[in-house]
Amino acid sequence: MDCIRVTNLLKRFGKTTALRDVTLDVRKGEFSVLLGPSGCGKTTLLRIVAGLERADAGQVVLAEQDVTLLPPRRRNIAMVFQNYAIFPHMKVYDNISFGLRMKKFEKSEIRRRVEEAMELMHISSLGKRLSSQLSGGQRQRVAVARALAMKPEVLLMDEPLSNLDALLRLEMRAELKNLLHAAGTTTLYVTHDQTEAMSLADRIAVMYSGELIQYAAVQDIYGKPATTFVGGFIGNPPMNIIPIRNLRQDEQQTKKVLRQLKPPSHIPFEELSVGLRAEDVQVVAADATQQMQHGGWPIKVLVVEPLGAQLHLSARIGEGLFRAVAPPTAGINEGDTVFLHPQNPHWFDAEGRALSSH
Ligand code: ATP
Repeated sequence: MDCIRVTNLLKRFGKTTALRDVTLDVRKGEFSVLLGPSGCGKTTLLRIVAGLERADAGQVVLAEQDVTLLPPRRRNIAMVFQNYAIFPHMKVYDNISFGLRMKKFEKSEIRRRVEEAMELMHISSLGKRLSSQLSGGQRQRVAVARALAMKPEVLLMDEPLSNLDALLRLEMRAELKNLLHAAGTTTLYVTHDQTEAMSLADRIAVMYSGELIQYAAVQDIYGKPATTFVGGFIGNPPMNIIPIRNLRQDEQQTKKVLRQLKPPSHIPFEELSVGLRAEDVQVVAADATQQMQHGGWPIKVLVVEPLGAQLHLSARIGEGLFRAVAPPTAGINEGDTVFLHPQNPHWFDAEGRALSSH
């Protein structure tokens, strides 16, 4: 059963079209993430689901009920938004228990739930503190704890971990995922951080300029990106996209290697772009004659970034930068020529859409 379903949503702010014909569903118990660059419409979509914003066209259905015209309080959802609206004059404990008190839960149940939520968010020691005396990150955790204490069926969150330092963020991420899955909560979560999206989501909805570009399981978003934008947005380093027509005269060897990988397609080779993930490109530092016979293509390494477990290499290919990875022991230095052996190519047409072969 779909728990959240939006259909053909359109939203304009003056001349800006924030959402264009967006259709998306979140199944019961599923964790879906809206991911995309700043201004692509993520928050607007979440606010429309919450009822804080009204769409110009389209429909919002929650648990099979059309709520398009209903106010937020009649939508049976909990939310955590960027400007986490906690009450500054209230103590942390009272902030977290607020919704439960409103719903007239028993005192002992309130205490149990609040303490559990505070523990999860690592704020147990702050219960008596006034919320106005908290740091941004602590306030954010109070907002998340308040939403969790409600044990909602549907939870909407907009960058709820954005103010936490890297380590705490990692920890909270794992705990949130664990907790929400165990509780069977249906979650729609906004972030522009692709690592966060991949670690949390069952499915990721990648948005760009008000449109939903691809909505799929994490491994499909990564393994079968629908467009060059999705490929280039996901992964660290992101997928290398090489438009064949941008290859220079002195890159004939590259062209030859890539031509051998071309899929059967009526589209001329020159009009295609190929996407290669860094981890699908074997990098060999060896002497030229030997490697040519093995079909690799030579590149000159511009930058070497030693990131501990891997070396990240950058080189210029066509008009762009190409990124590859090598083991730290590879002994590759800036200025070296290395040979690339690509596998698992992703092919895109002139508009950047994936060819149907994958
Ligand atoms: P971010 O990651 O930066 O929060 P976002 O993907 O959540 O971005 P939205 O906040 O949904 O993006 O905004 C989508 C577009 O709509 C942007 O161009 C934004 O400037 C515009 N917009 C959003 N809210 C309003 C508003 N109240 N009035 C006018 N324009 C708005």
